[in-house]
Amino acid sequence: MRLLTPGDTTPASVNKYLLPREQSVITVHKHPAMLLGPIALTLGGLVVAGLLSTVADGNSSARNVIWLAWGLILLYLVWRVAEWSVVYFTVTDKRMILTSGLVIRKVAMMPMTKVTDMSFKRSATGRLFGYGEFVVESAGQEQALRNVPFLPYPEQLYLEVCGLLFPTDEKRVPCPRCGATGKIMLDGKDRPGGKDREVTCPACNGRRTVLEDSICPRCDGRGEITEITLDETYRPVSCPRCRGRGTTTLDGWDDDDRRKRRRQEEESDD
Ligand SMILES: [Zn+2]
Ligand SMILES: [Zn+2]
Repeated sequence: MRLLTPGDTTPASVNKYLLPREQSVITVHKHPAMLLGPIALTLGGLVVAGLLSTVADGNSSARNVIWLAWGLILLYLVWRVAEWSVVYFTVTDKRMILTSGLVIRKVAMMPMTKVTDMSFKRSATGRLFGYGEFVVESAGQEQALRNVPFLPYPEQLYLEVCGLLFPTDEKRVPCPRCGATGKIMLDGKDRPGGKDREVTCPACNGRRTVLEDSICPRCDGRGEITEITLDETYRPVSCPRCRGRGTTTLDGWDDDDRRKRRRQEEESDD
């Protein structure tokens, strides 16, 4: 039996709980190690029943009781295996879903948008057999899906879910302002007696690349636009949209800027 099913072959028993446009990413069975307890109980019971029935040799009614008791334990194991076979943990692009229950079907889910933190635990036996437990923290009070024990391939699964929680589809491109050098020359002629000087590129903050989405659409990241003056000559001016920086949303730069501004405001309040 396969423990892992890729998104396009989601079991029918899970599929019917998915929304029309919900993309199933991965579905796993719980790790069979969760049956270790019942299996050990059944085997131990078999040994004990064997011993007892040797002791009770000749007393047929006592032996019947002993084997009946063991039969019940065996039935319990069968029940647990059957139950295990219908438990699925499914990760979609929107939720984590745990479907379980042989007689009464139970569906617990956690929307990705509500997850505030997620970690996984691995016990010594978990490392030995290859399972782990997810611990999900969420914004809501009620948590239907807080601990999910006995998950196979916990590392891969964890990375998969983290990838959905924190998408990294941001694309970095060479900085158009500094030509990916990280430095720009500031023209000194604007200031009296000023000399040209090299400064850290304000668009990429010296990182040489910028987020593609952050490039200023007005000046295409150059920080300058061309203005036509009244006498119909062209002259470059600082881009009003990004204030000459070249980018509109910022890599860490913005935070520094804001902090500086706040400090200035606090000082001026005094
Ligand atoms: Zn740059
Ligand atoms: Zn601009």
